[in-house]
Amino acid sequence: MDLSYILNELGEDRAGYFQAVAPPILQTCNFASQTVGEMRHKLQHETEAHFYTRGKNPTVAMLEKKMAALEGTEQALGFGSGMAAVAAAVLSQVKAGDHVVCVKRPYTGTNKLMRQFLPRFGVEVTLVDGTDARNFLQATRANTALFYLESPNSFLFELQDIRAITAFARERNICTVLDNSFATPLFQNPAAMGVDLVVHSATKYIGGHSDVLGGIVCGSRERIYKIFSAEYTTLGAVLSPHDAWLLLRGLRTLPLRMERVAQTTRRVVAYLQQRHEVAEIIWPFLPEHPQYYLARKQMRNNTGQFTIRLQADTLEQVEKFCDSLQHFLMAASWGGHESLIFPMAAAYTPGGFKPSLPFTLIRFYIGLEDADYLIRDLDQAFAKMNA
Ligand SMILES: *Cc1c(COP(=O)(O)O)cnc(C)c1O
Repeated sequence: MDLSYILNELGEDRAGYFQAVAPPILQTCNFASQTVGEMRHKLQHETEAHFYTRGKNPTVAMLEKKMAALEGTEQALGFGSGMAAVAAAVLSQVKAGDHVVCVKRPYTGTNKLMRQFLPRFGVEVTLVDGTDARNFLQATRANTALFYLESPNSFLFELQDIRAITAFARERNICTVLDNSFATPLFQNPAAMGVDLVVHSATKYIGGHSDVLGGIVCGSRERIYKIFSAEYTTLGAVLSPHDAWLLLRGLRTLPLRMERVAQTTRRVVAYLQQRHEVAEIIWPFLPEHPQYYLARKQMRNNTGQFTIRLQADTLEQVEKFCDSLQHFLMAASWGGHESLIFPMAAAYTPGGFKPSLPFTLIRFYIGLEDADYLIRDLDQAFAKMNA
């Protein structure tokens, strides 16, 4: 299926709504039936019927069709946030007494799900260094039901060899879930590499404008039906029609934005490589990165996130650099129009909590601004740091 067809036409039915170019926001909780017979039919076919928006809603369904097509899966489900999607995908695959192997240092919320929530319900979790696929194999037990991957993972962008891990999982009948928020469906398609459920925080690149939260789970008809009839409708963390509409709008320009972000990021990284204040750039798209070849194999292009290790001895030096930036915003998230930094230093409290990662690490996200504009901002911040 052509990418242009998916983004501009698939799932849309303009004849059904006055040939409006933009899809309607069907902001309604419920859908009426004209006869008992019709209502009975809807109750029996809730996955297709329009009955109640904590199930199916036409605006949300348009987004789901497009996301399934982009990931090359049979179906998809839209959630109210990325975490709702992650939690539903994971919960759908485990029961008390099961065991999960999860990549080390996943997204913060996922980490909490693995370390705090699942153990409360009798599910054991082992976190492994995912850069060596054998660690997944070695951690596997007779009761292992799920492998959870995030490739690349948060902050350090460590990759997992997706094909090697899913091949082993298939043999053992272990379900695989992969968080593909980092790469988007344009630059990585985990289902084609054997992953069963692909999850997204649509809040990031899919929305693309830092104005909407959303999550997506993509998978086979059978697995999506299982999630729909249990976690989706029972936990109820569904996507609102208006938010689905914003995500549909985001999708229209996704290829354009991703191409721009990819190019600008390469230029900003090249600039940072020249700076003596930067001790290390953690980015799998640099040839000296130990997983460069795997990144090239699994992903079609680079995106806008990378982490630098600042050459600094004190927290104050790091703060001086970060506080001096005028155009990079200091904030969580990424994937919007605006460039961001997330300094690990913010997680350090004087004399208190010490995170496992050094305070010299700063995660960057490069947005849609001009590369020169961003480089000038970095330049002046380095100057202030050195002053
Ligand atoms: C942001 C993010 C999430 C959570 O998504 P929300 O939409 O904020 O709930 C999950 N995984 C990754 C990799 C993320 O970056």
